[in-house]
Amino acid sequence: MSLPSSYFFFEPTPTTLPLFIERAQGIYLYTKEGKEIIDAASGAVVVNIGQGREEIAAIAQEQIKKLDYIVPVWLSDALAGLVKKLSEWFPTEPYRFYFTAGGAESVEAAFRFAFLYQVAENKPWKNKILSRWTSYHGITLGALSASGNRLRREHLEHCLLDWPKIPPPYCYRCPWTKTYPSCGIACAQALEEVLHSETGNSMAAFIAEPIIGASGGAIVPVEEYWPAIAEICKKHGLLLIVDEVMTGFGRTGKRFAFEHWKLRPDIIVSAKGLSGGYIPMGMLAVREELVQRCEKVAKNFMFFTYTSHPLSCAIAKKVIDILEAENLIDHSMKMGELLGQSLKNELADHPFVGEIRGKGLFWGVEFVKSKITKEPFPPEEGFLNRFLRKALELGVFFYPCQGMADGFSGEAVLVCPPLIVKEEDILKIVAVLKESLNQLV
Ligand code: PLP
Repeated sequence: MSLPSSYFFFEPTPTTLPLFIERAQGIYLYTKEGKEIIDAASGAVVVNIGQGREEIAAIAQEQIKKLDYIVPVWLSDALAGLVKKLSEWFPTEPYRFYFTAGGAESVEAAFRFAFLYQVAENKPWKNKILSRWTSYHGITLGALSASGNRLRREHLEHCLLDWPKIPPPYCYRCPWTKTYPSCGIACAQALEEVLHSETGNSMAAFIAEPIIGASGGAIVPVEEYWPAIAEICKKHGLLLIVDEVMTGFGRTGKRFAFEHWKLRPDIIVSAKGLSGGYIPMGMLAVREELVQRCEKVAKNFMFFTYTSHPLSCAIAKKVIDILEAENLIDHSMKMGELLGQSLKNELADHPFVGEIRGKGLFWGVEFVKSKITKEPFPPEEGFLNRFLRKALELGVFFYPCQGMADGFSGEAVLVCPPLIVKEEDILKIVAVLKESLNQLV
């Protein structure tokens, strides 16, 4: 069956390539014509435990027969099981959990909590969210207002909330053209500067991805960055929201990426890997102490229709059980080291490769026209699209990232296969990346 072009909301672009995928198993996708493709993007960095799991199908069937839906204020075994499991993941301090149907919904819920918290603290003027350029938090209007990805904001700027942003911790293209470590971590100090400025007093929270994903291609900050940011937030009473939508649930070799820096976030937002793509789902974890202080305005927190959906909760619990039973977080770290090393060995000298960076199974390869000047490919050359097409032809799908250089240019791919990936798959992924670049010379 082929689909008429009128099916598509927009004309498919080369990056969205209207591939017809018939089925998937593990890390492999199969097209209608029977072509096998390695999914080195885990879909949209979602499919952490791989596709086609019988255990998940069984749990889903069982849960649907038992209980499909209840209003979100009621309790179910599925919700209780997931909350209990997640609580074990936060051993040092109690958090409260709230479940949604995806990343942007969770980000919006985090903002909603941050604003209600300020009201409860008698600071209603704190009604803005501070964030960073070269970031992505979702396409709903609040989440997009906090997102610093020019491409995704394009044509909508005039509709977005006017919230301040600081530059990203992006050493390869340092916004101050400084060099680490003599830079004094200017990217973290920028947060303090905003807070000292006139608008600083209206900031309710700071949101950022621990490792920049879709709009940067796995940009990992220097070691001192996150501790400095956390310190500044604490000093100024600014809530710290970490957006772990991409990086959560084992992706970077830890349960959550913030653990690499031993942070104590006020709010953690996640989605994607939480349910491994088996059902749309997102979550919010808020420090218990903050929720308690907010109790008097809590009734306004509200819920989405699909908050704490029993089927989603049952599936997410099973996904986490599988992560644990199969040791996939350690595996992610181990395979990630191999992936990072292989990428560096094979591609560091490639004329089109500017930087290779990442942690766990979350790696980025940034493409450049000139290795010396770091000049990106002009968007009109369509380099990224040509690369993606070539790689698909050779049997691997990579996740495209755009807009990290001067807002509209700059191209990279995320290399982030499912956490079940094996050594031989990693070698094939790296080989195809190299061959695709070579064929574009
Ligand atoms: N936050 C981050 C860091 C993301 O990468 C994404 C999506 O890619 C989102 C939020 C939005 O999630 P969703 O697309 O599920 O709304």
